[in-house]
Amino acid sequence: MLVLVLNAGSSSLKFGVFSAGDDTREVFKGSYERFQNGSCEYRFRHGETDERGAAAFASPSDALKGVPDALKRFDLDSIDAIGHRIVHGGSRFSAPTLLDDETVEAIAALTPLAPLHNPANLEAVRLCRGLWPNLPQVAVFDTAFHLTNPPSATTYAVPAAWREAGLRRYGFHGTSHKYVAMRAALEIGRPISDLQLVSVHLGNGASVCAVNRGQSMDSSMGMTPLEGLVMGTRSGDVDPGAFGFLSRRLGLSVQDIEDALYEDSGLKGLAGSSDMRDIEDRAAKGDPQAQLAIEIYAYRARKYVGAYAAAMGGLDAVVFTGGIGENSPSMRRRICDGLDFMGLQLDHDRNMAVNLSHRAAPQIQAYGSRVRVFVTETAEQLMIARETAAALAGGRSGGELRLPIAVSARHVHLSREAVDDLFGKGYMLDQAIRLRQPGHWAAGERVTLVGPKGRLERVAILGPLRERTQIEVSRTDSFALGIDVPVRDSGELEGTPQVTILGPAGSIATDGLIIAARHIHANPADAARLGIQDGDYVDISVGDEDRSLTFGRTLVRVGANAFTEVHIDTDEANAAGIEAAGTGELVHI
Ligand code: ADP
Repeated sequence: MLVLVLNAGSSSLKFGVFSAGDDTREVFKGSYERFQNGSCEYRFRHGETDERGAAAFASPSDALKGVPDALKRFDLDSIDAIGHRIVHGGSRFSAPTLLDDETVEAIAALTPLAPLHNPANLEAVRLCRGLWPNLPQVAVFDTAFHLTNPPSATTYAVPAAWREAGLRRYGFHGTSHKYVAMRAALEIGRPISDLQLVSVHLGNGASVCAVNRGQSMDSSMGMTPLEGLVMGTRSGDVDPGAFGFLSRRLGLSVQDIEDALYEDSGLKGLAGSSDMRDIEDRAAKGDPQAQLAIEIYAYRARKYVGAYAAAMGGLDAVVFTGGIGENSPSMRRRICDGLDFMGLQLDHDRNMAVNLSHRAAPQIQAYGSRVRVFVTETAEQLMIARETAAALAGGRSGGELRLPIAVSARHVHLSREAVDDLFGKGYMLDQAIRLRQPGHWAAGERVTLVGPKGRLERVAILGPLRERTQIEVSRTDSFALGIDVPVRDSGELEGTPQVTILGPAGSIATDGLIIAARHIHANPADAARLGIQDGDYVDISVGDEDRSLTFGRTLVRVGANAFTEVHIDTDEANAAGIEAAGTGELVHI
């Protein structure tokens, strides 16, 4: 499959063509940049060809019109799909998504969250839908990887009304952080789910990400790509009190301040240039402004590396990427120096000798360093091509679609009264783990279930709290408890058996014990694509070749913001040879 990947920014259009499959490869790389007075510079790379020149395009969206001709010239006009980088997917888009009228509209509605980026991305989507009306187009979101961040990382300590209006941290560069973390895990030779990694992406935009056991746990960019590190022209962290001070002292408007924080700050604000090469050269010649800029840049990055090691409670490796991370040994050294206390020592010769050709990911830590340090090129476009191809391989025409499957282990949903009885009056559960269904979480606390035959210890509590306590176990669990438990849809609790729940402050005997009937959560867009409706019963085919089977009578539950996935219990997963997660296919409606 040939995938055209587009990264349409406000000041450049970068694109690539990838042969996507088991081994996704880039076959063409193109860019249009430096738009000025109705023209721009272009560069096309294909095999041995490396062509540069000027083109009469006034803006990135104008330049998009040149892409079909460029592809034709290099015999690449038989593309099968288009993958778009979309900067902001809000809290809705947690996975690559097929672009149709509804999803384009939903992305447009997120513009206030990324006023500089999303409009340019969407303009490219709209133009491509006109240029290639028959090709499937997929959005891959910078924010998606970070949707696993817990509320403690995503919540700003601001008034409730602001949070309700949508003010929260998202994080960006997700595609890059995910790729380099996976690349490091591959080099280490251990599953990413075993590793605690800090990814340091230092390009014109820059961010650090804590990748805890394969999932993003926190990242230095926030609500917008302005928070965090010192960047080319963006300030990174600044006291929000600056707004009041600058308004009173210099008479600046909110717009003036915001513009300056985006465009005239960072390296440019500190030393007059946003280009690290330039600043390093000037610093070496004794320019004190350039020297201070480098010190601030490295200090901020080192603080985040340390903070994320602390946040994860451990660190196996640091990965450097982005133009500065890949090419500046002195910046890598400044960031790593001083981290010996947490087991990270750099090998200075290896650091100087980094060679990244052929997608290498060399290690530059000293022998004996407990923490490894990698350098590798990021490959956002390659990831977008891969994810586009995977999303399309998963999606089928004619109402069929592969669906993610989540396996629910035994758990309880508690009422307010139950929490009071089990943990103490007014007790607030720790919303420790954010679940994929928006607004749902798993508590840090656990409870014990007791039946006439035996007990089940450390049973998870899932939130939010409900009107009525509901306890969900598998049939195997029902034998361990010694209680005959009926299969019920969630919430259908009339006449269900009683079980005793033990908590640290007391116990309760309550009904609500069920084996949850398997079901599909779907958002309205996916439901429409699948041709299913709330309340339908469908069949789902799951499992690997040896143990594949079809689950009949699977209830469809459509929710406005639902993350589309099938929920089965541990007995069902075992029967189908699925471990923590898998995929299934709708076979019958
Ligand atoms: P973008 O975020 O736009 O993709 P890049 O990842 O290309 O940006 O990073 C651009 C930054 O990398 C610039 O500050 C540039 O000066 C810096 N850079 C590139 N090569 C070197 C180098 N050899 N030494 C120091 N900095 C470099």
